[in-house]
Amino acid sequence: MAATFQAHDPATGQAGPVYDGHTDQEALDITRAARTCFETWKRTSLPERAAPMRRAAQVLRRRASEFAALMTDEMGKTLTEGLAEIEKCAAHCDHFAEHAETYLAEQAVDMGGPKAKVAFRPMGTILAVMPWNFPFWQVIRFAAPTLMAGNTAVLKHASNVPGCALALEAVFREAGFPADAFRTLLIPSKSVQAIIEDPAIAAVSLTGSVPAGRQVASQAAGVLKKSVLELGGSDAYLVLEDVDVRGAAQIAAAARMVNGGQSCIAGKRFIVVAEIRAAFEAALVDAMAAFAMGDPRHQDTKLGPLQSVEARDEIHRQVTESIARGARLLLGGQVPDRPGAWYPATVLAGVVPGMPAHDEEVFGPVAAVIEARDEADAIRIANDSPFGLGSGVLTGDLARGERIATEELEAGMSFVNQNVRSDSRLPFGGVKHSGFGRECADFGIREFVNIKSVLVH
Ligand code: NDP
Repeated sequence: MAATFQAHDPATGQAGPVYDGHTDQEALDITRAARTCFETWKRTSLPERAAPMRRAAQVLRRRASEFAALMTDEMGKTLTEGLAEIEKCAAHCDHFAEHAETYLAEQAVDMGGPKAKVAFRPMGTILAVMPWNFPFWQVIRFAAPTLMAGNTAVLKHASNVPGCALALEAVFREAGFPADAFRTLLIPSKSVQAIIEDPAIAAVSLTGSVPAGRQVASQAAGVLKKSVLELGGSDAYLVLEDVDVRGAAQIAAAARMVNGGQSCIAGKRFIVVAEIRAAFEAALVDAMAAFAMGDPRHQDTKLGPLQSVEARDEIHRQVTESIARGARLLLGGQVPDRPGAWYPATVLAGVVPGMPAHDEEVFGPVAAVIEARDEADAIRIANDSPFGLGSGVLTGDLARGERIATEELEAGMSFVNQNVRSDSRLPFGGVKHSGFGRECADFGIREFVNIKSVLVH
């Protein structure tokens, strides 16, 4: 029996279209077709792969309004953020069409006699398990390098974005990729293990929560297949005493409020040195208050609904429990009396260990202010987290910021005086419970290749 997938509009709570899923057998058949496609796709040249990849960028740009509206309908993203997301996807396709050949160029090795080289060969068909928060970007971020490397792919997307999942398959078809180079499986998460274990799959990439990552990586390990995991984060931003406080608050609010706060690399903990703590709190409240809730379909709206009422209720629990344990509520924190998954921009101060806002990832528009004695104390607090995805340093002294970012923060990415964002040119990924492996750039495209040593005597 195939599962069905029911879309819901998070802005109103109203039910949207229902999609019929694939049966387990259909999903296996599709996966094996993608593997058969690999046998011919792997023999194409880089220019032959780049041509449809450039066309995929064109399809995305041409259909940007339609795809942005689909994301708004299914997970509540504002139309403005959706349009920016589609453009980012198109630019990513262009980037890998342009640079894959350089990233995958053979490397000569001097062995003092015989010819030796390193070649990067495709692995096969890669399974992607992806989340709803950036329904297009998370998938394209994986798919563009994976296909350019000569692999084929199957996608198991989050259950609340079935329309986006099918649209992504259509993008690659319309761009002229072979029909089975990129396929969508409409299956529930319980059906994923059989796909991982099928010999047609070579490796797995998952972006999502820690429990999902742990389970999928264990299943892959059980059949000795590689996995790349991009999991949650509780990104810390150090706010040091030499910073321009208002500018720092603007960066902090932008970092926190990306995608309504529903981003793995959103700034979640703002660790402020005591002497500017009060001034920063006031400036942060002003900056966060500028994110007023509104119709996600209106172009001026900066904060739409969250992805679901259940997710909203979990965030409110984290806020109310933190307040019960002594956090000070400076802004927001009330569930609006209206249908839909709404939650306002919220600021909690006086956050300390033992509070959910300190100990857990808060996947919504809630900024936590934590006081530190000095720089060393701020670094200690930032690193006292199971996560290590992004991080930031806000300071008036760039050399100081660079030193802390490079040497001190336990994170895959550390930005000075800018909010962390993903970029096709920079490796993206985390340490600790934020996962392992990298996406983007040369490091990303080399995750799903066989790094092969060749010696000719
Ligand atoms: P999940 O990790 O549950 O979902 C992400 C993807 O994994 C979905 O496709 C989901 O499918 C699938 N999945 C979940 N469990 C399994 C499993 N056991 N086996 C195989 N596939 C599985 O994320 P949620 O949407 O529930 O979000 C919860 C938390 O995850 C957030 O609070 C945040 O911490 C983190 N998260 C991180 C993201 C990131 O960008 N790093 C993005 C989204 C969430 P299905 O929808 O069918 O369950």
